[in-house]
Amino acid sequence: MASSDQEHWSRVKERLHAEVGDDIFQSWFARMDLERIENRTAWMSVPTRFLKSWIASHYTDRVLACWQAEVPEILKIEVAVRSAVIKSAVPKAKPQEAVEIGRETRPFRPETTDLRAAYGHEALGGSPLDLRLTFETFVVGRSNTLAHAAAKQVAVARRGEPVMFNPLYIHAGVGLGKTHLLQAITWTGNNGNERKVLYLTAEKFMYGFVSALRTQTALAFKEALRGIDVLVIDDLQFLQGKSTQAEFCHTLNALIDAGRQVVIAADRAPTDLDSLDDRVRSRLAGGLVVEMGALGEELRLEILKTRVAAARHYHPSFDVPGPVLTYIAKAVTHNGRDLEGAVNRLLAHNKLTGQPVTLEMAEREVRDLIRPQEPKRVKIEDIQRIVARQYNVSRADLLSSRRTANVVRPRQVAMYLAKTLTLRSLPEIGRRFGGRDHTTVLHAVRKIEGLVSNDTMLADEIEVLKRQLQE
Ligand code: ADP
Ligand code: MG
Repeated sequence: MASSDQEHWSRVKERLHAEVGDDIFQSWFARMDLERIENRTAWMSVPTRFLKSWIASHYTDRVLACWQAEVPEILKIEVAVRSAVIKSAVPKAKPQEAVEIGRETRPFRPETTDLRAAYGHEALGGSPLDLRLTFETFVVGRSNTLAHAAAKQVAVARRGEPVMFNPLYIHAGVGLGKTHLLQAITWTGNNGNERKVLYLTAEKFMYGFVSALRTQTALAFKEALRGIDVLVIDDLQFLQGKSTQAEFCHTLNALIDAGRQVVIAADRAPTDLDSLDDRVRSRLAGGLVVEMGALGEELRLEILKTRVAAARHYHPSFDVPGPVLTYIAKAVTHNGRDLEGAVNRLLAHNKLTGQPVTLEMAEREVRDLIRPQEPKRVKIEDIQRIVARQYNVSRADLLSSRRTANVVRPRQVAMYLAKTLTLRSLPEIGRRFGGRDHTTVLHAVRKIEGLVSNDTMLADEIEVLKRQLQE
């Protein structure tokens, strides 16, 4: 090959790098080589079939455009899988395919319990589990009955049984028991009914995927995931990066289509996962979506009791009188993590000083865990519903393109409330209001801001709406 071809290729790569960014470039193109240029076609190669098909389906136009910017005569690009042995023999596809199959598409071996052992890759292990987070220690109350029942159902299902809801998507604020439920599913599922349950945090999924690609075991990683009966992904809101999301979507579809169970937890509803694209969002919303609400006082008291009982298992002398438990359940309202913290402090104090747990000591120890109630998470749907009701229009009117005055004002008010009461961005709000442009939202927000400073009636109306939404 002419050395000028390689020079062109370096520049094409630079262009590509600049266009797609480092993350994507490293994931998909870092190991792409130019084989030759022939008949106005640039022949390139990559080490795995997976990379080849991914690049072909997602980046063909991109790569071609970069080539044409550099060498306008190029009309076409071709990507082949290169053999580890015969690097220059690109067009002879057959023997290379054979090599690929031999090396990468080993079937998943269910008898091997450790995926790492099966594939020699650290990325394929699950995230660590906490021994205490089981169904036995999970307290059921009004706010989590449905989530608990669905989780239980998923955990005890047997291999080959039809999957009832897929994916199961559980969302709730911080410390309300998402991780607890997900890990309980994992423990139960792996204990007994011959299914393989893999628990991964979204970060682990990202890390596993990207690093697997870098070490050329992408296909093994995908194969391993597909050998899983139940895939459990925690904290999905942390899933970032276009290529990881695309891969997540791929995996999700493959698993669901194959009748495997997927369980997901996140701190918000699928529709509020702003950074995910529409297809993923709708796929996620297509199963069973369950929200867990704040822990009620009774539930908090029960959680405290189980925590104390667990502690007493190792520290039999540790005792927390009833009134202290009641006090903490009333005062520490925030979340399960703070309840756990409160018990740990009482235990530490008791162990270190030898003093019994009293109400006075408890008040001192948990003082900083008593926080003002966090403002309620306001949802755009609720805003639309309440504004529509207030102004006697329908929610569909608010989302429609109608421009009559009786719809325009309520719509502007609703957009204004969405901007001031939620953390959603302008484009996101526009999307949720019938796919409007962010400039329209901005205009609405400014308009209402301008009006409320003079129009006290409107200002009062908005105050009332805000109060309804926040209580
Ligand atoms: P999240 O993942 O939703 O942020 P976690 O599952 O980590 O919350 O829960 C935080 C703490 O509260 C954990 O110690 C967990 O065991 C406890 N907890 C939350 N809900 C419950 C519950 N219903 N029963 C028992 N413990 C709970
Ligand atoms: Mg969690």
